[in-house]
Amino acid sequence: MAEICEITSPFEGFQMQIDTICERLQINEGYRLRLRESERELTTHFPVKMDDGTYKVFTGYRVQHNDTRGPAKGGIRYHPDVTLDEVKALAAWMAMKTAVVNIPYGGAKGGVTCNTKKLSMGELERLTRRYTSEISLVIGPEKDIPAPDVGTNPQTMAWIMDTYSMNRGYSVLGVVTGKPLELGGSKGRFESTGRGCMICALLAAKHLGIPVEGATVAVQGYGNVGAVASNLLAKEGCRIIAVSDSQGGIYNSKGLDVANVTRYKAETGSVIGYKDSESISHAELLELQCDILVPSALENEICAPNAPAVKAKMIVEGANGPTTIEADKILFDNGKFVIPDILANAGGVVVSYFEWVQGLQSFFWSEDEVNNQLRAVMDTAFQKTLELHKKEKADMRNAAYMLAINSIVDAMEVRGIFP
Ligand code: NAD
Repeated sequence: MAEICEITSPFEGFQMQIDTICERLQINEGYRLRLRESERELTTHFPVKMDDGTYKVFTGYRVQHNDTRGPAKGGIRYHPDVTLDEVKALAAWMAMKTAVVNIPYGGAKGGVTCNTKKLSMGELERLTRRYTSEISLVIGPEKDIPAPDVGTNPQTMAWIMDTYSMNRGYSVLGVVTGKPLELGGSKGRFESTGRGCMICALLAAKHLGIPVEGATVAVQGYGNVGAVASNLLAKEGCRIIAVSDSQGGIYNSKGLDVANVTRYKAETGSVIGYKDSESISHAELLELQCDILVPSALENEICAPNAPAVKAKMIVEGANGPTTIEADKILFDNGKFVIPDILANAGGVVVSYFEWVQGLQSFFWSEDEVNNQLRAVMDTAFQKTLELHKKEKADMRNAAYMLAINSIVDAMEVRGIFP
């Protein structure tokens, strides 16, 4: 979190957002109360044998926010700061996201409080397998399907799939997405979240009349989402003037050669020290004069104290929850065009859905087919959100929430309440 940002509860922020939109849409009180709570929260404290022969007890979570529209869906995060509150918010945002892009899923999320940098591969594998066994009570291809998030990757998904399959006695490919290609992964999945950000940024640039060629971009968080978004935006002609990771940022007003930055980070573990650049702080990156800012690290990075200093014309939320509610208002009042997380970073879950569909049919698509279908889904979701933004005179976040809440409430209404 940015040094100056106050610690706010992401889940409370989500509940405030639900209350605001439900009031605006005059949603029945019962639906509002259901939408603001998660349906199921699993907490597990489990032991892992470490390489030195000792045991450590880790805490993990799996939260299903809502599965009215289909199986719950969402990633698994490994990070030292993972808490139940954070996982609840991430699960809730997933439920909104799958509704905005209109794919037949609900929302879920999982996490383990751990520092992957301090674990060996063997320890990570044992942690993943034990955590999977603990949450296998609630996951499954027809009920809740995990995927990668911060600190997890296709290898983690392979271990989860293998563990779940061993406990069932047969191979269950559909229990996770974001798998390696050898195990039924989808072409284009690794790039999908960053690609979705790029598609949204281009659509917004067209709407705002910002020329894409030469548009200046700053990207916070040079991981899966941030690095792919940087590389794809550069291919479209944008000038990536700054990127950062947890250790700090790098800047070059003429534009960074992002393919080289990616290679440098793979070799050294950080973007820091890259030759054709000068160092900048986390705070300086967020406040740079640029056309497009892509926060793609963690939550609460743009908050009330630093939001007034954001100069970008457009903010594309690659990360989940990078902007606090207070900051959102400041950005809107300052005329900034924010593409909210539940739209901007939905490309990942869309291609996860394609992966699940391909796996269930045992029929795999070409990368072009995946990318074309992704573009079509993102384009429709963006246009629907933009329409509501104009019609309701709401910012893009509120418009996206209106779209999502209407869609979930419609589904709740036809399903009715059991018993
Ligand atoms: P990642 O671990 O690959 O990358 C995160 C990057 O952020 C790392 O480079 C890390 O060093 C950097 N970082 C951490 N703290 C930072 C800080 N204060 N300033 C600058 N950089 C910082 O994770 P990811 O998968 O790219 O996920 C990033 C964000 O995108 C998360 O919010 C995640 O929930 C969201 N997201 C990811 C996906 C996906 O498919 N991977 C999908 C949707 C949303």
